[in-house]
Amino acid sequence: MAENIKVAVRVRPFDDREMSHNSKMVIQMKGNQTTITSTSGKKNSFAFDYSYWSHDGYRITPDGYYEPESPVYADQKRVFEDLGRGMLNNAWKGFNCSLFAYGQTGSGKSYSIIGYRANKGIVPITCEQLFAGIEDKRAGAAKDDEWQVSVSMIEIYNEKVRDLLVTTKTRNRESLKIRQHQTKGFYVEGLSSSPVSSYAQIEAKIAEGSKNRSVAATNMNATSSRAHTIVAINFVQKNSNESGQKMTKSSLMNLVDLAGSERVGLTGAEGERMKEGAAINLSLSTLGNCISALADQAAGNTRVKVPFRDSVLTKLLQNALGGNSKTVMIAALSPADINYEETLSTLRFADRAK
Ligand code: ADP
Repeated sequence: MAENIKVAVRVRPFDDREMSHNSKMVIQMKGNQTTITSTSGKKNSFAFDYSYWSHDGYRITPDGYYEPESPVYADQKRVFEDLGRGMLNNAWKGFNCSLFAYGQTGSGKSYSIIGYRANKGIVPITCEQLFAGIEDKRAGAAKDDEWQVSVSMIEIYNEKVRDLLVTTKTRNRESLKIRQHQTKGFYVEGLSSSPVSSYAQIEAKIAEGSKNRSVAATNMNATSSRAHTIVAINFVQKNSNESGQKMTKSSLMNLVDLAGSERVGLTGAEGERMKEGAAINLSLSTLGNCISALADQAAGNTRVKVPFRDSVLTKLLQNALGGNSKTVMIAALSPADINYEETLSTLRFADRAK
């Protein structure tokens, strides 16, 4: 498995709908192994860097097939320590990182990435830790040392990009152009970037962007689960080295809540829905192709080409994937038999990324 790509799967507890269906557990975890069992008893096993369990002391019904065997019970802190900490260290070294959450709608992507209330996810914990680190450095810093953090937030819907941190209503609906810079690669033209100097400020920006996200979704008669959301954190460090030279290190952290991976196209979608489903599938499958090509490259197969240009999402992530960048993918899983097909397809997607 490539050192710079980490893949985790995380199964959430049963939700109300699954409970009301008396759903059976289809996921079993042992160490870093995850197994899914169909109602007919067919088993598929996968090994990931991490397999995260979230059922505290869970016991299966008498006719069920799940019996817990030393699962790794993971709370938000644990997930941050395993996956977020390495990204943050990479950012301090001046390298880029990308974090993705993949899975069907309702599988726990937002829970892992953003979290709910006191259960903060990887993004808020990472930001909190980043500012705590900056405070520590400032305490013992030279006068002209500087640490700058800025945040951008975009949404990609139907291969179009919207800025989620602009304040005027009209601009919010406009789509921005993707341009290519000779050395810096692809970028979004006219994208706003807000300087932030504390955790509270960054939290407020993410809250504002999330609100705009749902506003944009309503305008488009869509739900936000059909768009990809990227929070991009730019971190610049300017310090003098031992010989008094000013050094600048910049790093970009892309934190991505992907659109729901459910197969929109297969459920009789027509017109706009069909187009939307095709766009989601295009960017998700291209992302999968890119991550797996990068893993092949890291394993020594240098002839593999990474198809970044095939979707807007991968164009924009190009600078934060591969090379010295760290990539983390969390595949979010439902535990229930009623979601078996989608969960198996999520596991297969995650498996390709290794
Ligand atoms: P998604 O972003 O994939 O649509 P959510 O993150 O909103 O899904 O999760 C759906 C529901 O499941 C939410 O109510 C969330 O609180 C709950 N949930 C998801 N993952 C976990 C977890 N690991 N532990 C506890 N509750 C979870």
